[in-house]
Amino acid sequence: MEKIKCLIIGSGPAGYTAAIYTARAGLKPVVYAGLTPGGQLTTTSEVENFPGYPDGVNGTVMMDDLRRQAERFGADIRQGEITSVGLSVRPFRVTTDESHQIEAESIIVATGATALYLGLPSESRYIGMGVSACAVCDGFFYRGRDVAVVGGGDSACEEALYLSTLCRQVYLVVRKPFLRASKHMQRRVFETSNIEVLFEHTTQEVLGDESGVTGARLGKADGTVREIAIEGFFPAIGHSPRTEIFRGQLRLDPDGYILTGPAAADPDAETDSDPATPYPTSTSVRGVFAAGDVADRVYQQAITAAAAGCRAALDCERFLLDE
Ligand code: NDP
Repeated sequence: MEKIKCLIIGSGPAGYTAAIYTARAGLKPVVYAGLTPGGQLTTTSEVENFPGYPDGVNGTVMMDDLRRQAERFGADIRQGEITSVGLSVRPFRVTTDESHQIEAESIIVATGATALYLGLPSESRYIGMGVSACAVCDGFFYRGRDVAVVGGGDSACEEALYLSTLCRQVYLVVRKPFLRASKHMQRRVFETSNIEVLFEHTTQEVLGDESGVTGARLGKADGTVREIAIEGFFPAIGHSPRTEIFRGQLRLDPDGYILTGPAAADPDAETDSDPATPYPTSTSVRGVFAAGDVADRVYQQAITAAAAGCRAALDCERFLLDE
């Protein structure tokens, strides 16, 4: 059984920033990077809004830099996943996907979120055969073809803009009569000649044959139905937090996001100051902290995740000192 002071689960901006801070504090953090080392930013193209990069930065490059920065201070960054956790007693016991057992005095959860799909049977039938939640990963396969992106937020606009550089025609399928994305993103979408925004349309069915996706049947609010011929279908409708292994152990909100700070306190506790949550990034279990998209349903930005990773690391350090 390996015994460590601080385990960080996840390797997005939150996990790596927590690793930089805890390593510099001498906590010798062990980071389990998960199945997508670097997290969601490695599936994005250019990050234009992270302060300090006036010309933007490639997401994969930024995450690689963060990893190397953490390693420079001694963080032990490992491939692989944590498959189960036991949080009822400290030190906490965790098991990795290679059945390695670890006892950790503290844990920082930074497992992030994953892309949501619409949930249509026809959509799942063609995952990997034309349906993809990552334009940057798969857009290459659709060069010169027609594709559709579903959603009206920043993710959908970003995917549509990326695909517009590769594809002949991009349909942006939006269920509302407006986009929810930032004004800057909206302007770029409207100014791109090969993106057609289909407002008030929902996807009824993804159409295809043995070769993969061939089209989509869309329904309009007024009851009319339209079929578009496409070979790629990219849902970009938001994310779901990666909290499966913590269910029943950490207090979560109804959508599965980890509650932290006062919100994580036991509503039935007799005193106002639940001893489990004296730190802003504390979860409902003493010694377990959460940072980044897994605990943030509002901002979900690289910069806010990095800041949360810093806060969780400082809270974790104080917690271990206080103990
Ligand atoms: P959002 O929650 O902002 O947007 C989701 C979009 O998908 C909405 O338009 C929503 O429609 C639509 N949607 C949801 N469910 C369905 C469905 N079943 N059928 C059709 N449409 C659906 O998610 P994002 O992933 O776009 O963004 C999350 C956060 O990350 C935001 O804060 C965003 O600003 C940020 N972000 C920033 C980027 C950047 O700055 N470069 C890039 C990407 C994300 P409705 O409006 O009707 O609810």
